[in-house]
Amino acid sequence: MSNRVRFLNLSLGSAKKCPVCGWTCREFRKVEYPYKPAISLVCPSCRSYERHRFAYLVLKNKIADYARETLHIAPERCIKPWLQSNSRIYLSVDLLSKSAMVHMDITDLGFADNSFSLVWCSHVLEHIENDRQAMSEVYRVLKPNGLAVIQVPIYGQKTYEDSAIQSPEERLKHFYQDDHVRRCGLDIVQRLQNVGFKVNVIELSKLRDNHISKYGLDEPSTREIFLCSKH
Ligand SMILES: [Zn+2]
Repeated sequence: MSNRVRFLNLSLGSAKKCPVCGWTCREFRKVEYPYKPAISLVCPSCRSYERHRFAYLVLKNKIADYARETLHIAPERCIKPWLQSNSRIYLSVDLLSKSAMVHMDITDLGFADNSFSLVWCSHVLEHIENDRQAMSEVYRVLKPNGLAVIQVPIYGQKTYEDSAIQSPEERLKHFYQDDHVRRCGLDIVQRLQNVGFKVNVIELSKLRDNHISKYGLDEPSTREIFLCSKH
């Protein structure tokens, strides 16, 4: 089946809806990974994953309060228009990606302290060897009373990492993706607190059951959003 036919086929019907782009569809596109226990459900239109739809639902009525000066780290195309339209100043950074406005290392952000009222950092920290330094940099550039939205895939309570696991093949097997350097656990909250953040954990279970099905949030590896603030 061609991609075009698959897209049209998924788009028939309105049982499911992507809150990010408003697309209605019969079902989300299923993406499976080797080793990873959960599949992903991707919007056939904007390519949002569960984490984007979850974060959008939680923050859609709040984002305007924070997004005056926005830093979007490793920018996702599906979320960018929403963040940009709510921001007076919007800047995106990534180490290598062409979709970012500026190339920059999250462990060495070239911004003054207290520069941004909103930092969006979703599924980045599990790729960074020195995650403590990355968290510390996000904390440094965030304004007091600003908001850092942090998401990582979470598996269990305790983070699993081993610096001896270096090859892409071994990382895929142990961390479920060949460019992940750890499998994060809920103890990421302590790591975030250790660099100074106050952390509010928003759990997927807080959403209404019918929202979970309708918005394709049934089997996510991301069941939490870590809303981090600096006081
Ligand atoms: Zn969408």
